[in-house]
Amino acid sequence: MIVTLKNIIPVIGAKWVGEFDAADISHISIDSRSLQNGSETLFFALSGPNNDAHNYIGELIDIGVVNFVVSYIPDDVKNQANFLVVPNTLAALQQFATWYRNHFKFPVIGITGSNGKTIIKEWLNFLLGPDFNIIRSPKSYNSQVGVPLSVISINEKHNIGIFEAGISTVSEMEKLEPIIAPTIGILTNIGSAHDEGFSNIAQKIKEKLKLFKHSDLLIYNLNKTIEAFIPSVTKRFSWSFKDETADVYLERRISGEHTSILVTWNERAFEVVIPFRDDASVENAVHCLMVLLHLGYENDVIKSRISMLFPVEMRLKVKNGIYNSTVIDDSYSSDFQSLKIALDFLETQKQHKKKTLILSDIFQSGLTNEELYSRVSQLVISNKINRVIGIGETISAFKNKFVNCITFDTTNEFLAAFDTLNFGNETILVKGARQFRFEKVVALLEEKTHETVLEINLNAISHNLNFFRSKLDPGTKMMVMVKAFGYGNGGIEIARLLEHHKVDYLGVAFADEGIALKTQGISLPIMVMNPESTSFASIIQHGLEPEIYSLKGLDAFLKIANDKKLEHYPIHIKLDTGMHRLGFQEPQLAELIAILRHHKSVKVKSILSHMATSDDLRHHEFALSQIALFEKMSSLMMDQLEIDPIRHILNTSGISNYGEAQFDMVRLGIGLYGISNDASEQKYLENVGTLKSIISQIRTIPTGDSVGYGRRFIAEHETRIATIPIGYADGISRHWGRGAGYVNINGKKAPITGSVCMDMLMVDVTGITCKEGDPVVIFGENPTVIYMAQKLETIPYEILTSISQRVKRVFYRE
Ligand SMILES: *Cc1c(COP(=O)(O)O)cnc(C)c1O
Repeated sequence: MIVTLKNIIPVIGAKWVGEFDAADISHISIDSRSLQNGSETLFFALSGPNNDAHNYIGELIDIGVVNFVVSYIPDDVKNQANFLVVPNTLAALQQFATWYRNHFKFPVIGITGSNGKTIIKEWLNFLLGPDFNIIRSPKSYNSQVGVPLSVISINEKHNIGIFEAGISTVSEMEKLEPIIAPTIGILTNIGSAHDEGFSNIAQKIKEKLKLFKHSDLLIYNLNKTIEAFIPSVTKRFSWSFKDETADVYLERRISGEHTSILVTWNERAFEVVIPFRDDASVENAVHCLMVLLHLGYENDVIKSRISMLFPVEMRLKVKNGIYNSTVIDDSYSSDFQSLKIALDFLETQKQHKKKTLILSDIFQSGLTNEELYSRVSQLVISNKINRVIGIGETISAFKNKFVNCITFDTTNEFLAAFDTLNFGNETILVKGARQFRFEKVVALLEEKTHETVLEINLNAISHNLNFFRSKLDPGTKMMVMVKAFGYGNGGIEIARLLEHHKVDYLGVAFADEGIALKTQGISLPIMVMNPESTSFASIIQHGLEPEIYSLKGLDAFLKIANDKKLEHYPIHIKLDTGMHRLGFQEPQLAELIAILRHHKSVKVKSILSHMATSDDLRHHEFALSQIALFEKMSSLMMDQLEIDPIRHILNTSGISNYGEAQFDMVRLGIGLYGISNDASEQKYLENVGTLKSIISQIRTIPTGDSVGYGRRFIAEHETRIATIPIGYADGISRHWGRGAGYVNINGKKAPITGSVCMDMLMVDVTGITCKEGDPVVIFGENPTVIYMAQKLETIPYEILTSISQRVKRVFYRE
């Protein structure tokens, strides 16, 4: 469908400010960092509480974008582009998507509910794939922004749509409903807890059901509370394991690793094997089965396709690869939309200059192959990919569309040629459809790790950053502390993400941490809190900015700065307002000011202090006295030196408890990593790190036998013991052993028996269904680091930073 600006103006009710309104629009974008084709892009400048895309319009004009939907025209770009001015740019994006959606008349499946949306969507894509050209939401694009972006990828070739909708509060579904306009609805499992955004579960159900206001049919698990809210125009198509009055009645039998169910509907009765046994997967599979029944599939087809369902891996994982490469593993899907997302992600991961894409044939794009591979080639060029390795017969046939490209007809041919491809010192995106079995490719590229890993959720970090940003006054800057390897979570990877999110400053403890970040390409300014005099020369060489906290340090730095004939080199002055750790005290200020006044080699970029009790309201008065003293001392310096530095005193708990003292910047630390010192705030943060291992061995011991060194555990009954390859050398405190702590195996608590050893620990798995090789969670969602810290009488900071560097970090995003 060809869309021009002229079409769009009335649809979104825009005021037109520009010269040329006949332009074709072939791309819609909201993210200034990932643009594909400038002149045919319409950029919607969305603005959140802390990030306003209007600020990037200038940069976008520089790279060739000419069409913008804005809520105001920033002064610096007046008359430089076409502007569609609307009251609210998000609402405009949604109106546009609704209008666009209305041009297509094919069936659309809309999915909502608390759990399972993305899995059902991916499974339906697999089940219906042989018979339809499917358009579906990429990954879990189900939000107020994600849904419109998904829908505007529909084109004429598609003949069925599958979209998911997720809401967190009332009134959101009303906006998503006309955009998706589902004809077939699926209501997945509704979680029993009510979320923050809803007053009770009935309200939550009622809100979710608004998605199906105009649907012809609703598929759901029979339940009286739900029925009360189903719109009267909607035909009900219910299923149940319990209630024979449901439209489709199912009898469930578990057999080994599978679940077999007997399906009875109208005159039909047949058995289906679902290759899973957990309740959630079975329920998701049944929802898919209902769609197949509704669409008129035969028993045999249903049976054979359902039996092939597979675990859905939705996450893009970043792994350390062979020969100093980095592997981004997205080896479970290859559609055009998710290729775009993966390439955007590759762009944020600036580990290496060189970038390689390993790509399989792409299915169901709704485009001709000619058109499809032209577009893929455009994406490859705009993302500056250095080499493309194509696997599959179709991509091989279009090899000439790419510049530096090698192709193979099959994955096995690629594997046979692997050693000749010289992988190393590059970022490799591995992106392929399931049937190409690219997990074999990843296995070869991946550096071998031992079984214990700390998984870091990059989405959670972004979420937590945004949460704290939302607490800042407009204009307050943000420094993020990435000292101690990003609190144990990985320094460089997190620094890159923060650079992507345009924070203002990074903070490290020592010069070598800052040097490591700079040499790996981080360009954000970095403050070094504890620079030793011996490191001043390399601090300057790498463009790091020292914190100066004593006259002696100042003197030493000035000597070097003068020698090197520096001018206005940025330094940060630390004031001691009561922490009594580092910093100038009040009586030293006069001398400090006198020296600074006479030296133009340095410039006071910022003045800071640190609070001793921002997390503990029992010391509220003391905290206020620190803030007051900071105000007084910093004002004196500013008046006498006639300077206007950035002032900052708040750490994470300071942001939570002393928001009025933001000054010009805050220093976020532990909060980014998902930990708040304030219980009421904790629930808004997402868990970042999950320390995982596996079961090495399981044995059963009789009553009276002991486990481990010193026989510190004696079995009081027959006991099943599992051994996990993680110990105190990995950072697990010995105090966590001997029954004090537990690990999580298949959702169950397994208490640690006996003492934690150097490289291993043993747990009691009596009564827990598990086998050798099963995954074990040491901490993460359960137990949380906060819980561990309480039990161990320490603080989460110590637990996180104790995880030894021999534990591999694996980064992923949802
Ligand atoms: C570590 C540190 C922070 C961050 O503290 P959190 O409690 O982790 O937010 C801020 N300022 C200074 C000086 C620090 O050393």
